[in-house]
Amino acid sequence: MSAHNLRDLFVEQLRDVYDAEQRITKALPKMAKAAQSDELRTAFEHHLRQTEEHVNRLERVMKSLDETPKRKTCKAIVGLLEEGEELLGENVEVRDAALIAAAQKVEHYEMATYGCLRSWANLLGETQASQILQTTLDEEGETDHKLTDIAETLNPEAMDGR
Ligand code: FE
Ligand code: FE
Repeated sequence: MSAHNLRDLFVEQLRDVYDAEQRITKALPKMAKAAQSDELRTAFEHHLRQTEEHVNRLERVMKSLDETPKRKTCKAIVGLLEEGEELLGENVEVRDAALIAAAQKVEHYEMATYGCLRSWANLLGETQASQILQTTLDEEGETDHKLTDIAETLNPEAMDGR
């Protein structure tokens, strides 16, 4: 921690989520491959394309602040993705339920991050950055809702693999 003011903290946390988003682009293809239902696989593939755009948007935000886009290891996402990786090997009967849980933990973490970043952008008078961050925040929220919808369509009887 080396931030002395809100702008420094803003830049530091942008670098943190910039690292997180790039790690997520590596994890989503594995999650799509492990998904049993077509709907869940499609949802992961769709969110992969969005996540690639989240990376691009963060580059635009950092450039708009005259900061070079640099990564700072996001330890929380490293941990969440490690947990997710373990769930890839879950038995097929319950794998989709497990993958959805792992993915929603990531989405909620991202939503918390982008919500703060957007609010800080507003406090700092960075209107353009605020709008870009809000766009990503909305997409994370939509993804979370989509995953809830898919979770509710899972068949509990099919999960009884005895
Ligand atoms: Fe994202
Ligand atoms: Fe996401």
